[in-house]
Amino acid sequence: MVGKTFIVEHLDPELGPWSELEYIAIAKETQETKGNFLLSSLPTEFKVPAALNGIPAFKPEHRGVEELYADNRAKVCLLDPAAAKDLSPEDGETFDAFLFGGILGDDPPRDRTSELRRKGFEGRRLGPKQMTTDTAVRVTRLVVQDGIALDKVPYVDFPELKFNAHESTQMPFRYVTDKEGNPIMPEGMKELIQKDADKSLDDLL
Ligand code: SAM
Repeated sequence: MVGKTFIVEHLDPELGPWSELEYIAIAKETQETKGNFLLSSLPTEFKVPAALNGIPAFKPEHRGVEELYADNRAKVCLLDPAAAKDLSPEDGETFDAFLFGGILGDDPPRDRTSELRRKGFEGRRLGPKQMTTDTAVRVTRLVVQDGIALDKVPYVDFPELKFNAHESTQMPFRYVTDKEGNPIMPEGMKELIQKDADKSLDDLL
């Protein structure tokens, strides 16, 4: 297996707790599968969380992807929900690096990936449903490194997370599933979602 480079161009002004958990998950999985994970376009004052710094596959970058790949732009594929063509295992032979928007999912999607589309990289879609950034990286890796066709990746759409007998929330995204059919999420994400849901409820009271 040849490990690819996965670039997340950080587009939010700061690193929120959701993004941090997503980036840690990407770094760990990229490490296990012998790839590289670049978190690019970081503001100069950005403090890299310790949990990320300790993972050798992870590299923080202040430069943006245009500067990093100025001499080999054709080797970069932008994962773009609005691209005309879906990603295929053959794209693993054409491209060395896969670029993602470092944006939290939003419902309805605001198409902030357009900030990267404007830079002119070749785009590929991962099917019609919005994924979280770590899911999009996971699916891309399964397709271009493991050679699994996009429609053979096991998914669940809009899963309901049950916290207890009375509380649950529906996630407006598509996720890859594990062997038991449960959505794969970053470690600590379910707890964070529950905490945020409790907080919004408290704010209403
Ligand atoms: N609502 C978002 C937007 O404003 O574009 C989608 C952001 S998504 C949470 C983060 C990144 O994952 C996107 O920038 C894109 O690179 C990738 N992504 C997510 N779903 C995708 C899909 N269905 N096809 C291609 N890329 C996708």
